[in-house]
Amino acid sequence: MEIITNAMRQLAREGLENGLDIIIGWKDGRFEWQSKPAFITEINDIESLNFNNYSLKNLSGYLLKKELKDKKIGIFLKGCDYKAYKQLVNYNQVDPENIQIWGIACPGLKERDFHGNTSNAERCQRCQEPVPEELETIIGKKEVAIQNSPEDKYQDVKKLESLATDERFDYWKDQISDCIRCYACRNTCPLCECTTCMIAGGDSNSDDWIDSAKEFSQDFFFHSIRAFHQAGRCVDCGECEEVCPVDIPISKINNKIRHDIENLYEMPEVADDDSVMGPLLDFREDDPEPGSKGGKENA
Ligand code: SF4
Ligand code: SF4
Ligand code: SF4
Repeated sequence: MEIITNAMRQLAREGLENGLDIIIGWKDGRFEWQSKPAFITEINDIESLNFNNYSLKNLSGYLLKKELKDKKIGIFLKGCDYKAYKQLVNYNQVDPENIQIWGIACPGLKERDFHGNTSNAERCQRCQEPVPEELETIIGKKEVAIQNSPEDKYQDVKKLESLATDERFDYWKDQISDCIRCYACRNTCPLCECTTCMIAGGDSNSDDWIDSAKEFSQDFFFHSIRAFHQAGRCVDCGECEEVCPVDIPISKINNKIRHDIENLYEMPEVADDDSVMGPLLDFREDDPEPGSKGGKENA
């Protein structure tokens, strides 16, 4: 972590000296098991930059901040952050012209649960691309980046798929009923970038599709619509699950959809260019029809 932190400070210094307006990285939080985003505009503040075991926060979503529009930005991105950044570029949400990216060879990070137990972050145990290889500058040692086997990616999904339909429904009913609809998962997601959300608020003129009734139907509606809106976008950065105050395993929903998209539609997780349409924007006559009579099963 020290190697990464030192390199981060050095690059940030050079960036500011060479005309960048702002550097986005990480700094320590209040406790040793916390890490926060850092927005550095002054050379004097560079020493506050620190990459620690808990620097999970995906920084790419901050590029959407209106106040950063037209600024020259330097940003540090781990493998998962970089995938989210690429999606933002593909969806024309950020202009790469003004952005200098430095990649981090990520060793895999930790998370702390509500009981104070620390463990390897779940998302890191699935991670297949901890190093944003396409970038010119990568800091940290690639040889110590986390290495998982391809089977690790969808282990949780496969466990759920092995359950009978009614068992799966009961599982999700149990989980989703805990939702308090705080919308932290939506708000933190770098790829939930609509400024007015069709499901729940966003501005005072929006016609909310969901009311505040404490009903499973409303919780289910929120989760199912959000999952479909994330189809083809979600990069499994784990931010949504990380912030959920009631510990709903949101990643399993998104990963199930990603798994189906890869299997049924043979679409890449993140396209290298914007010519590949998202699965909800693309239709081919020979598309499989999971769930319909004669369609592929397992979905
Ligand atoms: S998901 Fe991968 S890139 Fe992201 S924090 Fe975990 S190991 Fe690092
Ligand atoms: S963060 Fe958790 S509790 Fe809040 S809306 Fe999302 S799933 Fe529900
Ligand atoms: S839905 Fe969750 S895991 Fe997927 S990109 Fe958004 S925050 Fe990351």
